[in-house]
Amino acid sequence: MFDNLTTKFQKVFRHLKGHGKLTEENIQEALREVRLALLEADVHYKVAKDFVKTIAQRAVGQEVMGSLTPGQQVIKIVNEALTDLMGGTAVPLDLTGPPPQVIVLVGLQGSGKTTTAGKLAFHLSKNKRRPCLVPADVYRPAAIDQLTTLAGQLKMPVYPSSSDQKPEHIVRDAVSFARQHQCDTLIVDTAGRLHIDQELMDELKRIEAVVKPQEMLLVADAMTGQDAVRVASSFHEALHITGVVLTKLDGDARGGAALSIKAVTGCPIKFVGVGEKLDALEVFHPDRMSSRILG
Ligand code: GDP
Repeated sequence: MFDNLTTKFQKVFRHLKGHGKLTEENIQEALREVRLALLEADVHYKVAKDFVKTIAQRAVGQEVMGSLTPGQQVIKIVNEALTDLMGGTAVPLDLTGPPPQVIVLVGLQGSGKTTTAGKLAFHLSKNKRRPCLVPADVYRPAAIDQLTTLAGQLKMPVYPSSSDQKPEHIVRDAVSFARQHQCDTLIVDTAGRLHIDQELMDELKRIEAVVKPQEMLLVADAMTGQDAVRVASSFHEALHITGVVLTKLDGDARGGAALSIKAVTGCPIKFVGVGEKLDALEVFHPDRMSSRILG
């Protein structure tokens, strides 16, 4: 994951560790390289600039810590700053209200919504919840079939949507269906488009108005870098997005989306997709991701 970025960071740190005492020049050089590494990883330029500024400020004010060398201190500062950049602490799903709770997945076509719906159902069932899957992409019958197949694999109830129903009616009726089947969580897969358009946003707003979901998660493809961040901003402006699921982190995504989304949109990443299989979903922990990136 993010191999290129890790290699670049390690190079900067190796260089710093070679010095017993760090000069202003050493630090400036390291900061320049960190900024370049972030830009190459497709991190938003303003995020990269602010990040380097934060590290510079923290490094200047540092007391010399007996147990750490100056190089190690810089690594510690970078690690903490990366963790903060990605939101600091993990933000769990908020499913505390009375059941059934509704989770709506939104995003562009191909971002991984349907797959994520199945993965999330599997994740929740391991956490003692009883999910029900709700296909609400009425434009692509294949999407309804895909989710129905996943529900079959998971042995979970799936609402029998039909492509002549309105998505907001599907979701409304699926709430009663969930109650009948003793399900405490609905996972709604919505339609995507290749690009954001008003029609899609209006449809999602109608779903939002009918069921008032506890969670509305944007599913975004990490491979698309800054585009994923722009998509997240647009969805967040139009809807009440409560978190992001960043998919395809197992591919050769450069890291820009993971590092910029929280800073640019204010929306926390709640899960990451790390493969096509149903168990390839991880709860997002900023501190663990930061340690992974730094290698
Ligand atoms: P949707 O159009 O948003 O519903 O997207 P799909 O769920 O159909 O996913 C599109 C493609 O991305 C499929 O081939 C999925 O198997 C794949 N996919 C989804 N999530 C991941 C992931 O985390 N890693 C990888 N490698 N592929 C994924």
